[in-house]
Amino acid sequence: MRKAKIVGTLGPSSSDVATIKKLIKAGLNVARVNMSHGTHEDHKKLIANIREASKSVGQEVAILADLQGPKIRVDKLHEDLELKKDEIWAIGAAKVREDYKKYDNFIPTLYEKLVQDCHDGARILFDDGLIAAEALEKDGEVYKIKILVGGILKSNKGINLPDCQVSAPAMTEKDRKDLFFALKHDVDYVALSFVRTKEDIKELKCLLHDLKMNIPVVAKIEKPQAVENLSEIMDVADVIMIARGDLGVEVGNHLVPSIQKKITKECNARGIPVITATQMLESMIHNPTPTRAEASDVANAIWDGTDAVMLSGETASGKYPVESVKMMSKIVADAEKSPNKRPNIKDIDLSNVNSALSVAASLVAEKVHAKRIISMTQSGHSCLKLSRFRPSTTVLGITNNLQTVRRICLYWGVVPFYLVEYDEDSPILKEQILDMVRESVHLKKGDKVVIARGDGTFFAGGMANSLQVETIKKAPKVVGGSDTIESFSDGKKTIKLDTHICASCQNCISICPHDIWAVKKNKIGSTYIVEANIKNCAVDFECVRVCPTGAIEIIPEGD
Ligand code: PEP
Repeated sequence: MRKAKIVGTLGPSSSDVATIKKLIKAGLNVARVNMSHGTHEDHKKLIANIREASKSVGQEVAILADLQGPKIRVDKLHEDLELKKDEIWAIGAAKVREDYKKYDNFIPTLYEKLVQDCHDGARILFDDGLIAAEALEKDGEVYKIKILVGGILKSNKGINLPDCQVSAPAMTEKDRKDLFFALKHDVDYVALSFVRTKEDIKELKCLLHDLKMNIPVVAKIEKPQAVENLSEIMDVADVIMIARGDLGVEVGNHLVPSIQKKITKECNARGIPVITATQMLESMIHNPTPTRAEASDVANAIWDGTDAVMLSGETASGKYPVESVKMMSKIVADAEKSPNKRPNIKDIDLSNVNSALSVAASLVAEKVHAKRIISMTQSGHSCLKLSRFRPSTTVLGITNNLQTVRRICLYWGVVPFYLVEYDEDSPILKEQILDMVRESVHLKKGDKVVIARGDGTFFAGGMANSLQVETIKKAPKVVGGSDTIESFSDGKKTIKLDTHICASCQNCISICPHDIWAVKKNKIGSTYIVEANIKNCAVDFECVRVCPTGAIEIIPEGD
């Protein structure tokens, strides 16, 4: 059972429902929608496809909308520019070009304040640092620059000013439009790029507050200023992303490893989820297997304590999106065989009831060899606290809140469990919940679970105050009989499914290449598999073969 989570950026290689279903089955937990590319129409379709795929597979995924932030870019060019070493060029807003005809070589930028923010001697980097220049002197509304490393410059390529205090606002007009769009489409996390100070995150949080939207904010650390201001940014951000792509351009690749370790350590100490991003399996954009160095990079991020690892081009535009997620999942699972580091108890404020309960639940579960910690949660807060202590026992975050289910998808070591329909006043609610858990995670008689919850009500934010160790008393009930059989026929064959025997293992979904099977929830929230599209069935009996409980029967015509 993998503990660290996988974030995958979706794009042209992975935007259709069939591929997203495969990504989810391969282990995708969070789908990242990059607002820097594509139109709102594209994003709308992508979000709908993610939700459809998730529903069909019967597994929740969170959606993370990544706002572009104040990214500086080259303006539209009539043709590509060839920048040669030692040449002198001018850079400025496209609209001033006419006034500076004396410069044969001119680079137009979309960022009008570039000349104002720049200073003599500052580095100006283009296209992820592949082309480098030095600012020589200001000449009115343009800056004279000398090319240090040449190359071909194309329209819209990024510009980085690592030595300058960029005065662009934290959120551009585009970001605001993108944010409203993302909120309208019910995303679960919002990330802000090029954060410099805590004020940048507060600006976004104030906007969300005014809109009455309680949605977690991910601060992308990719500017040297953000590294300097890390502690204050962590005071206000909900999640930190180590955005190694732009970070490498801004600070130099040689400094990325130490900064990554420092950020991870700091996040672990403060219990803030951290995502390690960019170029983790970069060569898989073109190849079906990663390099040894990439596999080691993923494993080391896990051993250092990252909560999640992220794929970008590998899943968005690469040739092997599904293989990349499968590979990442395998590397993470293997890395997690080594015992994980956990925070020292003395560094945790145990006067906080929730923290004390989380530590106690983790330790009790380990000592009694519990199969699961069941955390009954409304907001997901209790699960986050549990996650922080890095329990070796998998946590089942049971909630009645769909938003919480999806947020939990990012939490290290926590598996979300959505309670769809239940009766809060039922005297046997705990037994019903235990029944569902037992069925869904295949617990046996004598297995133990630790339940952390509020002793009054099951789902009330911030009320968790009690721990119980429960021993599973009964074997899973197997009720036969025609009322438990779902039967489907297309006149050529009949498929029968005994919904009470179905263990919801989803083996049939994984094995079937024709998408015959899909997941359905029953009334009190446990899942069972139900046939979706019988006419595609090739009657190869593969699902019958892999079904561990014998719940499936296929009867071909004439039998
Ligand atoms: C990065 O720069 O590493 C990153 C994650 O941001 P983006 O993919 O938006 O450039």
